[in-house]
Amino acid sequence: MGADTGRRRIGYVNLPAQFEEERTEIMQAVEGVFQRGDFIGGAAVGKLEEELSAYLGSPHVVTLNSGTDALILALRALDIGPGDEVITPPNSFVASTAAIVAVGATPVFADVLPDQNIDPAAVEAAVTPRTKAIMPVHLTGRMADMGPLMAIADKHALAVIEDSAQAVGSTYDGRMSGTIGTFGCFSAHPLKNLNAAGDAGFLVTADAEMAARIRRLRNHGLINRSDVQEWGIVSRLDTLQAEVLRIRLRHLPPVIERRRRNATQYRAELAGLPLFIPPCRNIEFNTFHTFVVQTDRRNDFQKYLADKGIETAIHYPVPIHLQPAAAHLGQGRGAFPVTERQADQILTLPINQFLSAADISYICAIAREYFA
Ligand SMILES: *Cc1c(COP(=O)(O)O)cnc(C)c1O
Repeated sequence: MGADTGRRRIGYVNLPAQFEEERTEIMQAVEGVFQRGDFIGGAAVGKLEEELSAYLGSPHVVTLNSGTDALILALRALDIGPGDEVITPPNSFVASTAAIVAVGATPVFADVLPDQNIDPAAVEAAVTPRTKAIMPVHLTGRMADMGPLMAIADKHALAVIEDSAQAVGSTYDGRMSGTIGTFGCFSAHPLKNLNAAGDAGFLVTADAEMAARIRRLRNHGLINRSDVQEWGIVSRLDTLQAEVLRIRLRHLPPVIERRRRNATQYRAELAGLPLFIPPCRNIEFNTFHTFVVQTDRRNDFQKYLADKGIETAIHYPVPIHLQPAAAHLGQGRGAFPVTERQADQILTLPINQFLSAADISYICAIAREYFA
């Protein structure tokens, strides 16, 4: 409060600051990998899987090359392919839908709620005899409404693939994101809360056989050094990335705490402004991968913030059903009105763990100045 509103520069992310905090640990780990030369399949990969398993409370963790591959391999393990439908929201990062298309299945969109997450009633309405799975996305780090979604899945005998790419460590009703459905798929892309130094991802499941099958699929489908029963791909996590992620998994709880603290400060200092911020629910623990506000003056507000040195982003400006690549699905403008309206109203404010209370106060003071 009472922050000085003199111009400063506030970046959306701050990866160099993260490196400075971890320089010694990271450089030692990198040196170890180069000295051993165990670039693929090093011991760190298995150790990371055990540590993630303990953190998430899930019996099987399979590390992979990306969050997108996690989604694709979960679909493959469920034998979902041509003729099958998977219900997913049209306002995610394009990878969720792209994974469904990649296995030859048909994405069926269900519109979202004011909090940007998939609307269980719209999911129920989208179920057909061809539906095989629901793929909810925990957008922004806020969990989709898993209670009703799991009830719909049970009723229609559908698998649930949680796209937890933005929600590592988030919980719903005391359960970790990714561990409620059949699969939880995570990304460790450099811009995610648990971030590697390049592409990386992993999936979790309670099903030992599916986990074993995905371990084969990520390594050419090989069952030993020379035999292949079904064709796979190459989607192993590099040892270097595993080392980086082992270090960063240890630092994840304070990262999440700092983001939550920033969110609490935003809520307090933006209160009363004409900005919609989804209210916290008692049953959730939100890890705030992003902090999104909604306003019908979005473009003008974004420009005002940019002029004051505040970098913001839009996640995502073009709904997936309106992407040129989605034309074959035949869903034009007007098909998903909530998603379409939000695409014009959402603005992601900086919330990274390196922002100080003074930085957040500055952003909020500029916002109050704009709406005054
Ligand atoms: C980042 C992201 C993905 C894809 O993860 P990659 O590791 O970049 O492949 C999938 N879904 C959502 C919602 C994401 O935010």
